[in-house]
Amino acid sequence: MPLPKRPRDTALRNSGARALLLINIGQLLTLRSSTKGPRRGRDLSDLGLIEDGAVLSVGGKIVSVGKTKDALSDSWVKKNRRKIREIDCTGKVVLPGFVDSHTHPAFTAPRLVDFEQRIAGATYEQIAEAGGGIRSSVEGVRKATRAALAGHVLAALNAMLTQGTTTVEAKSGYGLSLDAELKSLEAIGDAAREWPGTVAPTLLGAHVVPREYEGREDKYVRIVCKEMIPRAAERKLARFVDVFCDRGAFSPASAEHLFLAAREHGLGVRAHVCQLSHCEIAPLLKYDPASLDHMDYAGDDDIGALAAQSAMSPALQTVATLVPGANYFLGLGRFPDARRLIDSGVPVALATDYNPGTSPTISMPFVLSLACTHMKMTPAEAIAAATINGAHALRLAGRKGSLEAGKDADLAIFDVADYREIPYWVAGNRCAAVIVAGTQL
Ligand SMILES: [Zn+2]
Repeated sequence: MPLPKRPRDTALRNSGARALLLINIGQLLTLRSSTKGPRRGRDLSDLGLIEDGAVLSVGGKIVSVGKTKDALSDSWVKKNRRKIREIDCTGKVVLPGFVDSHTHPAFTAPRLVDFEQRIAGATYEQIAEAGGGIRSSVEGVRKATRAALAGHVLAALNAMLTQGTTTVEAKSGYGLSLDAELKSLEAIGDAAREWPGTVAPTLLGAHVVPREYEGREDKYVRIVCKEMIPRAAERKLARFVDVFCDRGAFSPASAEHLFLAAREHGLGVRAHVCQLSHCEIAPLLKYDPASLDHMDYAGDDDIGALAAQSAMSPALQTVATLVPGANYFLGLGRFPDARRLIDSGVPVALATDYNPGTSPTISMPFVLSLACTHMKMTPAEAIAAATINGAHALRLAGRKGSLEAGKDADLAIFDVADYREIPYWVAGNRCAAVIVAGTQL
């Protein structure tokens, strides 16, 4: 296969440019696609696998992807080989860095009381009613300094990187006041600037109604719409607005108010839906959410409406992001029905839902494993859901999620001979190295 593009010599002479060549890759998963938009149906299994593959990047961008023999016989590579950093990936799998499109890293402490109460038999809602749950993380966040909070976020991001994640969506949502939500977003921004990967910040002011607004959801939603969203947008602290739309959280009507305010201020939207109970999602689709997440109790009508969204332009399609780490950690027997979603034509992504209450894991390989064992996704489907479809769920697929010329050179190298081993070796870490913007970390 000829190399599709060659960098100009000037690119390498440019002081900022770094050239990196990965060669002898046992299995190179490009995730390249001939169609635009997120993967759905059978396309979800297409990894664009190249054996004995090579990837060349210059200045942080992928320049070419192909076979090692073609890369090494390329005249530009031959001429510049001594200046190019080379990594021999014999016997390894290389794929795009994971895109973790749903995380809640802005918290200060684990929720160990909830953990033990659940072991003793309490349900999610019983724990929340007894003063645990999301609200019990609020005090810590309100008291924390911005720097301390940023330290917690950065520690999580760094841990994610060690398991192959290079792009992360990070939500606020444990502050639940104007000041504490803005502080959470500032902390996410501070951590993002220290971290080599890419962070998409999300305002989740509507995570739960805070105690001081108990029984006054409308009043709190007005504060999110009239104060938090405008301030976050004005200061460019968030790309998305999220809402927890469920029994015991916010109503679909509140979600629509939030989405309207987000749209008015130029922010994208996404929502937690159908985690604990069924809620109708069709009314939310008219706001073109980038993603609807959880989907445990999604009904046939919801799935049909989401699949129909496939007819939209790729820029407006909605991904269903499944987060089985939460089902696992809550000890639930029931998991999202990934097969029904995939077989119905809904584009599916996978994410950790990293948070202190229901999913304290930073590991995408673990989530892939859960997707295979508990949701009957194939290893190939799980990998596509965790890379290219995760990128679509963040509306970043123009830069992330696949290894194609022009995209960011964000890659994960796994010390396994076969990609199916990534979900197979459960609860270990076979990620050998991570490359972000063409630099090995
Ligand atoms: Zn969540």
